[in-house]
Amino acid sequence: MVRVPFLDLAREHAPLQEEIRAAIDRVLASSAFVGGDEVRAFEAEFAAYCGVRHCVGVANGTDALVLALRALGIGPGDAVLTTPFTFVATVEAIDLVGATPVLADIRADDFTLDPEAAAAVLATRPVKAVIAVHLYGQPADMEALAAVARAHGAALVEDAAQAQGARLRLGGQWRRAGGLGDAGCFSFYPTKNLGAFGDAGAITTDDDGLAERLRLLRDHGQAAKYRHVLRGATNSRLDGLQAAILRLKLRHLDGWNEARRRAAGRYASLLAGSALVLPRERSGAESVYHQYPVRLAGRGRVQEALAGRGVQTAVHYPAPVHLQEGYGGLGFGPGSYPVSEAVASDILSLPLFPALTAAEQGVVAEALIEALRGPACGSP
Ligand SMILES: *Cc1c(COP(=O)(O)O)cnc(C)c1O
Repeated sequence: MVRVPFLDLAREHAPLQEEIRAAIDRVLASSAFVGGDEVRAFEAEFAAYCGVRHCVGVANGTDALVLALRALGIGPGDAVLTTPFTFVATVEAIDLVGATPVLADIRADDFTLDPEAAAAVLATRPVKAVIAVHLYGQPADMEALAAVARAHGAALVEDAAQAQGARLRLGGQWRRAGGLGDAGCFSFYPTKNLGAFGDAGAITTDDDGLAERLRLLRDHGQAAKYRHVLRGATNSRLDGLQAAILRLKLRHLDGWNEARRRAAGRYASLLAGSALVLPRERSGAESVYHQYPVRLAGRGRVQEALAGRGVQTAVHYPAPVHLQEGYGGLGFGPGSYPVSEAVASDILSLPLFPALTAAEQGVVAEALIEALRGPACGSP
């Protein structure tokens, strides 16, 4: 039986062995394990890639969100709006700065924060910032969200953890995730489109003052060695080894994202005409397909049938944040965010990664179409 893995990072790294060893050797030779030249070089290169003036490397994507909120002056007594249909870290970051998470539903067609739902919430209460999540690699509708945020004096933050390289057409120009709001927050967790060999993250921004505050916040409030100008900052620095790995992988990112987009196109034709709801790219948006989520009836049964045929799949995410066990305290029960709840109940991510082969996609599609014809769909 042909096995199709959900993700195979080893395949992605195999052709890079020599580059990887050289990068690691460079860091060993320099002994710059935290911060240093590799970090500074990666920050400059990633800022240029995103089309912004600054990139501040941090320890992980959750810290990127937390520090962006802190640098924007958000804390206890403030409210921050985001969507419940995201990885939990988005909401967690709001809690971590002591602010109150406020939620608005997503749009069913692209799984990102619905600008109309956001506007409806902002009309009823003050909110200091809006965090738009570019879920599955598709940029949120930043033009509409910026208008909503601006009208209410709220900052607009991107959770771009799943969207390294994704683009949006704004004012006639293609701009990359990380340059679409006041601050862009990235995770380089190993499975992201641009992944380190451990935890890593970054914040991108065009705002000089914000970048300066972020540099202080991530490093004990140090303006110079042992001169601490900020109280209660933190330690959230990027490692030299991770930066060196990220630098070399950044050079491959566009190629990998192109491969993901080609694979998405292949699924779209293989699965056209099936009962599945396939992911759609909004016009003026270019997704980097961090995931390829389909919606279907009978998910559990289909997932099992696929597993039986050697095809691994995953669910991102089985419950929206407001229905997660630990988040009952938010006070929103079932029915509060119906689109998020419906999507969480019937979404399934198919294998999609740059090195996935057309033959493997054929296996996935065939197994999936057969499973859809299975017992729950019509037979006695
Ligand atoms: C991965 C992820 C994060 C958190 O990043 P970590 O590096 O794991 O802390 C935040 N938001 C989203 C949408 C993510 O996918």
